[in-house]
Amino acid sequence: MAGEESGGTTGPDHPARPAPAAHRALYTPHPRMADSPSDRPPLASPSMNLTPLPAFTDNYIWLLDDGQRTLAVDPGEADGLLAWLQARSLALDTILITHHHADHTGGVDALRSATGARVIGPAFEPMPEPLQRVAGGEALQALGVDFEVIDVPGHTSGHIAYFAPRAPGGPLLFCGDTLFSAGCGRLFEGTPGQMHESLQRLAALPDETRVCCTHEYTLANLRFALAVEPYNPDLQAHARHCETLRAADQPTLPSRIALERAINPFLRTTEPAVVQAARTRDPAANDPVAVLGALREWKNNFR
Ligand code: ZN
Ligand code: FE
Repeated sequence: MAGEESGGTTGPDHPARPAPAAHRALYTPHPRMADSPSDRPPLASPSMNLTPLPAFTDNYIWLLDDGQRTLAVDPGEADGLLAWLQARSLALDTILITHHHADHTGGVDALRSATGARVIGPAFEPMPEPLQRVAGGEALQALGVDFEVIDVPGHTSGHIAYFAPRAPGGPLLFCGDTLFSAGCGRLFEGTPGQMHESLQRLAALPDETRVCCTHEYTLANLRFALAVEPYNPDLQAHARHCETLRAADQPTLPSRIALERAINPFLRTTEPAVVQAARTRDPAANDPVAVLGALREWKNNFR
């Protein structure tokens, strides 16, 4: 759905991060990420590529492939993906869906009938049948990779995320329209309390987790984040980095969980500067949920 908010990113050039290890944790080579040899598990584990395929105006269909089979997340349209698969002689094995909005599900029927791919989606949302329905706490395997399902209500009431803790190349999160880089999804069906809990669940994932959001909203989100926290040096550096990426028509995603904790105001609802900024909009914002609610309202009207 257009207008759902904010994407995220990853910055190689964080002057405020002196330690090389921390620096590496925040850096994502791009756009098509082959595993670095040092990250590659020995022998039989397949090497995998992670690709954000642009769709519509600002969506990405995230693709994970092992050179033969492909996993696609939230394919809102089919044609671009079918052409991508054909150009690489790849088979579509599995489709994962995070929530019911048409820009995440619109391509499912055509892809299912063209490829026979298995479809997996949230247990409690209207979905293009037939599919396998999953809910928080359940596990699944696709392309030999183990995924955990995490309930993340807020943007929609049954929104789920898929987390692969041991994916080749490092932990991997497909979070749909819940967490964006430097932002979060609009609250179409949920409450600030639900979104806060969902975001905190994602923020607790390992630092190096690659965060694959469905929209390229990063620059707009960063403008808002800088209005909230103008003196956050990580945020300033990351905004410069993303301006450069977008000027070169490069994706700003995937982001990393450690980076999001450093720059995303919706994950920083206990940070004094964020609380203070939220209170300029809502003087009664006295707890993290109220701070998130005030930020979300502010962002809805931010230009
Ligand atoms: Zn959505
Ligand atoms: Fe969307």
